[in-house]
Amino acid sequence: MKKKDIEFFRELLTQQLDDLLRRSNDTVAQLKDQESSYSDLIDQASAYTDQNFLLRIKDRESRLINKIRSALERIEDGSFGICEICDEEISIGRLKARPVATQCIECKTKMEALEKAASF
Ligand SMILES: [Zn+2]
Repeated sequence: MKKKDIEFFRELLTQQLDDLLRRSNDTVAQLKDQESSYSDLIDQASAYTDQNFLLRIKDRESRLINKIRSALERIEDGSFGICEICDEEISIGRLKARPVATQCIECKTKMEALEKAASF
């Protein structure tokens, strides 16, 4: 991959990570707010549901944060944009759509087909 492409993705991923970390702090603040502001039982029940919902979002966020962090590590060690299965370069177009991708579209499609076949 060209140096300027690497720089593009480094910037993109750093930006995404910043956004996520900022949003993730907001979610934690929301959780804390709810714990202190709900008092009666009905409100507690709905607070519980909201809290589950927020926790699920948080869980998804933290998984994405990990993916972005490891993509940034791959940029540092020079393996970014290389498919982890076939060692071929992942296309720039695919990386632009999904910078955290670790597999090329061929391998990804194959893996999905295998997963689908395994679930039947
Ligand atoms: Zn591949």
